[in-house]
Amino acid sequence: MTSPVPLPLPALHASHGGNWLRPANGVTEAVSKGDAIMAAADTPVLLLNAPLVANRLGYPDLSGLDVLELFAFVHPARFCVPTPRGLAQALGLEEPESDQHVPGFLLQAAGALVAACEDPEWFERAGAWSSLHSLERLRWPWAQVLKPHIKRPEKAEKWLFAALPEWEETGERAPPRQVELPDADVLGELDALTGEGSEKREGQRQYSTEVSRIFAPRDRRELPHVALAQAGTGIGKTLGYLAPSSLWAKQSGGTVWVSTFTKNLQRQLRSESRRAWPLKRPDGTPPVVVRKGRENYLCLLNLEDALQGGFAGRPAILAQLVARWASFTRDGDMIGGDLPGWLGTLFRKRGIAALTDQRGECVYAGCPHYRKCFIERAGRDSAQADLVIANHALVMVNAARGRDHAQRPTRIIFDEGHHVFEAADSTFAATLSGQEAIELRRWIIGPERKNRGRRRGLSARLADVASYDDEGGEAIEAACEAAQAFPGEGWLQRLIENEPSGPIETLLGAVRTATYARDESGQEAGYGIETEASGLPGEVIEAASAAGEALAAIRTPLIRLGGRLEAILADPPDWLDGAGRARIEGARFSLQWRVDLLAAWESLLDRLGGPADPEFVDWLAVDRSDAREFDVAIHRRWLDPMKPFARVVLEPSHGVMLTSATLTDRIGTEGDPWESAIRRSGANHIESAPMLSAADSPFDYASRAEVLIVTDVRKGDLPGLAGAYARLIEASDGGVLGLFTAIRRMRAVHGRIADRLAREGLPLYAQHVDPIDTGTLVDIFRDDPRASLLGTDALRDGVDVPGRSLRCVVMEAVPWPRPDILHKARRAAAAQDDGTGSQYDDRIIRARLAQAFGRLIRNKDDAGHFVVLSSAFPSRLLSAFPEGTAVRRVTLDEALVRVRDGQIGEDPSEVAQNTGALDDNIPDSFA
Ligand code: SF4
Repeated sequence: MTSPVPLPLPALHASHGGNWLRPANGVTEAVSKGDAIMAAADTPVLLLNAPLVANRLGYPDLSGLDVLELFAFVHPARFCVPTPRGLAQALGLEEPESDQHVPGFLLQAAGALVAACEDPEWFERAGAWSSLHSLERLRWPWAQVLKPHIKRPEKAEKWLFAALPEWEETGERAPPRQVELPDADVLGELDALTGEGSEKREGQRQYSTEVSRIFAPRDRRELPHVALAQAGTGIGKTLGYLAPSSLWAKQSGGTVWVSTFTKNLQRQLRSESRRAWPLKRPDGTPPVVVRKGRENYLCLLNLEDALQGGFAGRPAILAQLVARWASFTRDGDMIGGDLPGWLGTLFRKRGIAALTDQRGECVYAGCPHYRKCFIERAGRDSAQADLVIANHALVMVNAARGRDHAQRPTRIIFDEGHHVFEAADSTFAATLSGQEAIELRRWIIGPERKNRGRRRGLSARLADVASYDDEGGEAIEAACEAAQAFPGEGWLQRLIENEPSGPIETLLGAVRTATYARDESGQEAGYGIETEASGLPGEVIEAASAAGEALAAIRTPLIRLGGRLEAILADPPDWLDGAGRARIEGARFSLQWRVDLLAAWESLLDRLGGPADPEFVDWLAVDRSDAREFDVAIHRRWLDPMKPFARVVLEPSHGVMLTSATLTDRIGTEGDPWESAIRRSGANHIESAPMLSAADSPFDYASRAEVLIVTDVRKGDLPGLAGAYARLIEASDGGVLGLFTAIRRMRAVHGRIADRLAREGLPLYAQHVDPIDTGTLVDIFRDDPRASLLGTDALRDGVDVPGRSLRCVVMEAVPWPRPDILHKARRAAAAQDDGTGSQYDDRIIRARLAQAFGRLIRNKDDAGHFVVLSSAFPSRLLSAFPEGTAVRRVTLDEALVRVRDGQIGEDPSEVAQNTGALDDNIPDSFA
C-alpha cells in the first residue's frame, strides 16, 4: 500500500527503555520523563494507550490523542493488539524498528486511520458521521482531526436502536430423538471433520468413539451416562468430541452444550466448530452459538441512557465508541467478545460494567429494545442451536435456576473439566456481605441518589402491576420498606467508625470486630483476613438473629408479590398483551432468584450460634486490597460442592462428559490416578459408575522439554529472585512466562527488572502492574516473540500460546495451596482417608504444576524449559510432569547455559527423571 501521510502533530512514546518525543514536523529525540510530561501538558500529543504511557511516566493525569481511541472509532469490532507492532499488523503498515521509531510510526498509523475514513469502501462508515457529531459535542480530541474527512451522508443515518435487527420469535424445539451412534459413523464424521487425507490419529479415534457413549439413550431417570476422559495435549480432543456431537445433533435434532472455563477455549471452539457447521443455516439462524452470563452483554437500555446524558465526560465518550461497536458486533458480547479488551481500560472507570446488565435490572418486554436485545437474542438462538458453547458457571447457574426446564441441555461436555470443581464451589456458595446486600437493596428500592440514570427499583419496574392489583402494590410497598434494613451508602465507613445503621450493618460491624479480634495471621495490612464461624461472641449471635428476622421480613412480601404475579399470569387482565406477559414472567423469575438468595442468607445466619453442619464450611471475613477494606462478609461453602452439582447438573442430564489434559492425578506408579478425578466430578454421588478413558499425548516430551529445578536462589531473597528472572529472560531472549504465587512479589520483581530488560529490547509485561486486561496482555505476549509476561493463577492455565512466543516457563516457587479456612477444612476431611491430609495438598500441587507445565508444549514443534526457582521441591511431586520429561537439579548458572543453548534432555546419566532422586525437604505438616 502507499505510505499514509503522517499527521502534523507531536507524538510521544514511553517504554521501560526510555521516552521519545517527536515534535510536530520535527525529529524524534529521546527525552527525560519530566520533558515528556511537560510536552504532553503543553499541547495534545499523539500516543498509544494513554494509561500505559501515564503509568510508564508515573504521571496519572496524562492525556492526549490516543491512537487506540481513533482505531476504535474507525474500525469498531476489529481485532488489534494494542502495541506498535500489533497496530502495524492491523493496518498493514511496516512495524517500527525500535522504540525510537515509534512516534513517527504513530503519526503514520493515525494518518492511515484518517485516510480510511475517506475510502469509499470504508466498511464501518454507517453511523460514523452522526457519532462524530456527538463526540464533537463531548470535546473528544479526535473529533476536530476527523471532521474534515468524514462526509455528511446523503440520506439521514438511522439511529443505532432503529438500525439493529430484531430477533424472531420461534416455536419450541421438540425434545431430541433417541438415537444410537455406531462407532463406524462416529469415525466417518471424524474423518470428515479432520479433512480428507489427514493423518489418522489412533488416540483421537479411540477418544471420539468413547465420547460418543454419552449420547446413548438413558436407561433410568436421574442416571445419566457420565464419562471422564483424560485427553493428553495434542491428541485432537476438540474435534474428537465435536465429531460425535455434530452427528448426534444432526440425527436427534437436539442441542449439545460444550462448556469451557476459559474464554480462550471458547474462541478456539467457535473457530473449530466451523468444520462441522456452517456460519448460518439456510433460514439464517446460527447452528453454533456462544452463550455467556447476561452480565457479559451490552444492555441497549443502559447504552441509550448513557448516550442521552446518563454518562458525562470521558465515560460519555466511551459510550459513543461502544455505540459504534454495537452496530458492527457479532453478538453484543463485551467481555471477551469482539469489543477490544483494551477499550474499557483506556477510560479507567467502570464504564463497560455500567453498560451491561450487572444487577439484574432488566425489564424484559417492558424495554423498548427488547426485540433487539443481544441477551434475548443469544437466549433464543441457543434454544435452536445444534451446539452451544458456554462456560462452567453459566451451565451450573442455568441448571440451578434456569427459567425454562424444557430447554435444559440433555448432553453436556465439560472441556477443561479439571475446573468443574472450583466452578461448582463458587456457584453453590452463599455469601452475605455488605456489597451483596447493598446490591439487593438497590434492586428492591432503587438507587439512593436520584441522578443514577435509569436504574430503578421494584415499584418503578412494576408500576402497572401495582396500579392494577392492590395486593401486589401493597407487597411492593412492604418489600421496599423492609429493605430499608439493608446497608445503605457509606455503610463501610459507618462500620469503621462503629456507628452502624440498621440490623444488617450492625451484624456486619460485629463480624468485622470479631474477625479483627481473632486475627493472628500476621499478614501485612492490605490482605484479607478471616476467622472460623465457631465460638462466636454473643454480639455476633445476637446481631445475626436480628438480621435474620430483618431478612425474613424482606423475603415475605417478595414471596407475596411472586404469588400475585403468578395470579395475574393465570388469570390475565385484558391489557396484558404478549409483551406484558413476557415482562411479568421475567419479573417473576428474577424475584424467585432473590427470594432464594434471601432464604440462603437466613439459613446461613440461623447456623451461626448452633452446632456446625458437617456438610458446610462457614467463616467470617474482612476483604482488603492494597490496604483498603472493601467488604465484610459471612461465607458458606459446601465441604463437597460436587454434591449439589450431582443433584442439579448430573442427575437431570442424559449424558455428561468431563475432559481435560489434567483430569487425572499424575500420582506416579502408586495409587489410583482416577480416584480424585471421580470425586471431583461428582460421579461418586450418583448411582452408576463413570466410564473412564485416557489417551496419552503424542508429544515426545523427552526431546522437547526439560524441567530445571534451580537450587541456589534462596527463599526470601528478592534481589536474587529478580536477578534470576532477568537473567533467564535474557538467556531465553524473551518468550518467558513467569508465574508467581504472590502479587506483591511479582510487582517487586517487575519493578526491579523491567527497565533493564526494555533497554535490551526485551519488553516485560505484568498482570496487576500494566493497566491492561489479562486477555490483552496474553495477546501482546503471543504477538511478540521477544516479550515476556509475569502473572499469577489466571495465567497458569489460561494461556494458549503455541510456537516461539512461549519457550520458557519460570515458576518462582512450588505452588503450595494457601492454608485458608476452607482449604484446612477440606484437608482435614481428606485426612480421614490418608491420616495426614498431605496427599490432598500434593494432589493440588501436582495439578497446578501439570497445568503450568502444560503451557510450554502446545504443539508438536514446541520446545522449551520449565524452570522452578526453588530447591524445596519434593521428589514425590515430580510425577506431575509427563513421563519421560527430563528433570535436572541445577545451579542458576547451569540453568542459564541450558536455556541459552536450548539444551534439552541430553546426558541421561545426569538426569533425575521422575525417579525420586531429589531430596524430600518439605515437611508433610506444612499446612
Ligand atoms: S431487554 Fe433487558 S437487557 Fe435487553 S436491552 Fe432491555 S433492559 Fe437491557
